[in-house]
Amino acid sequence: MSAGRDPLAAAGAGPEGGAAAPAISIRGVRKVFASGGAEVVALDGIDLDVAPGELVCLLGPSGCGKSTLLNAVAGFAPPTAGTIVANGRPATAPGPDRAMVFQEYALFPWMTVERNVAFGLEMKGASRAEIRATVDRLLAMLHLRDFRARFPKDLSGGMRQRVAIARVLAIDPPMLLMDEPFGALDALTRRNLQDELLRIWAELGKTILFVTHGIEESIYLADRVVVMTYRPGTVKRIVPVTLPRPRDPASPEFNALKREVSALVMEEQALHEAAETSGAAGE
Ligand code: ADP
Ligand code: MG
Repeated sequence: MSAGRDPLAAAGAGPEGGAAAPAISIRGVRKVFASGGAEVVALDGIDLDVAPGELVCLLGPSGCGKSTLLNAVAGFAPPTAGTIVANGRPATAPGPDRAMVFQEYALFPWMTVERNVAFGLEMKGASRAEIRATVDRLLAMLHLRDFRARFPKDLSGGMRQRVAIARVLAIDPPMLLMDEPFGALDALTRRNLQDELLRIWAELGKTILFVTHGIEESIYLADRVVVMTYRPGTVKRIVPVTLPRPRDPASPEFNALKREVSALVMEEQALHEAAETSGAAGE
């Protein structure tokens, strides 16, 4: 167990400290919500490190605390107990080093695609030339060049999510936090966006913490899949995925991993259902 380690010391370890400092270091994180007089322990005893440039998926059924953990890393809703250090600093408030991509496309409906992508740079006071160059590069990277003058309402869901990704990449954060970003898309569009994300990740070297309840999605994307338990959310098992990319979901190796991860998720689901049933019977 790593609960005794000092997260600040760990994050501050430079090259002389051996391994590179983690991009995200989560120690002993617990989150309790007050809900109508009762308390809901959403997270408990979470310890997790994410290495710089790593793509880690948080996987678990709906309600297991994935968004709660991601929001804590983002600094939107700090934990009740425990510490989170991101990019060397305590993640007690949101910062431009941690960009969030949600399932609902966080775009300004009154701005064109181009203006949406430029927005963060305008806020930063970047020069017109820099904004122009960055927006052009990102629109090309995400295959949005022909749509630059459109408004979000005139785009498909997949296109809107491309704009949302371009928008956060514009401010060039070292880290992307993604909360079921492709969950609302049809299967084909989702695979497409997964491939785009992997291409961008390989090209730009971002650290990505990606929340999903999709078993196949997690194995397709991640360096490591963090399987969570159901309420309180804890780390049930970390499954490394070493298959070379692009990964073939039809391959025997992929399917073996899928069976392994499915068994873990189903075990969790069964425990949860049994607890609910016995709880109801005891009333
Ligand atoms: P997931 O993203 O895995 O679906 P969440 O992190 O959204 O799960 O929720 C985890 C648990 O915490 C759930 O039981 C949910 O009802 C509860 N929860 C989340 N946010 C709040 C809140 N603001 N107030 C009370 N309970 C909450
Ligand atoms: Mg969620």
